[in-house]
Amino acid sequence: MFLEMARLDRLHLIGQMASGIGHEIRNPLTTVRGFLQLLETKHPDSKAHYDLMISELDRANTIITEFLSLSKTKPENLGPQNLNRIIDAIFPMIQAHAFRNDKEVILDLTPLPDALIDEKEIRQVLLNLVQNALDATAAGGKVIVRTLLREPHYVTFAVTDSGPGIHPDTVGRLGTPFFTTKAEGTGLGLAVSYNIINRHGGKIELDTGSRGTTFYVHLPCQ
Ligand code: ADP
Repeated sequence: MFLEMARLDRLHLIGQMASGIGHEIRNPLTTVRGFLQLLETKHPDSKAHYDLMISELDRANTIITEFLSLSKTKPENLGPQNLNRIIDAIFPMIQAHAFRNDKEVILDLTPLPDALIDEKEIRQVLLNLVQNALDATAAGGKVIVRTLLREPHYVTFAVTDSGPGIHPDTVGRLGTPFFTTKAEGTGLGLAVSYNIINRHGGKIELDTGSRGTTFYVHLPCQ
């Protein structure tokens, strides 16, 4: 099923509103972080508390940065790139992360033509989808990352897990900022990913059932 892109207009509006207050919040956070680091050196006994405060501030900052990215309308550094090269370059990091969680990622790459890609952004989409796939996978399980030519005029990558699948009631809410079913989730990964794919003129496709989930990302080429 192709996911409806109309909701992206809504995302864009939310993003614009967010950017207004986001910048105003980030600056004081940075100031507080700086003073906490300074105080930490003066109170070594309380280091654990300072570290916790700093990591909480960093988490807030990450959420604001991701939310702010929803207001972007165009990829910043679009250039002819090969999806296989981008995936190959980031694969060791993905695999190391999977191994730390007693899981494995398998690569299955098909030769592809170049496409107009903002490498940093598409890397982020890949990381978000792989993280979700790993979260859905039991220890000892595998996630498959493939590239393929499936739609005319598009290059495609797919991330497949063997998790429990996504409930039909949930599918309609995917990509809504802050929608999460995870205790530690931000609910921003898919919203940010949909926005990036949309800005590339791409499409996202979902295939989910009790045997697992595949997200296909189609990016225009030629
Ligand atoms: P987060 O990962 O922080 O929850 P996302 O926007 O990336 O935020 O995902 C939103 C929700 O979509 C997840 O909480 C989960 O319920 C669901 N989801 C996304 N990918 C998968 C997947 N591969 N398998 C099962 N559920 C998924």
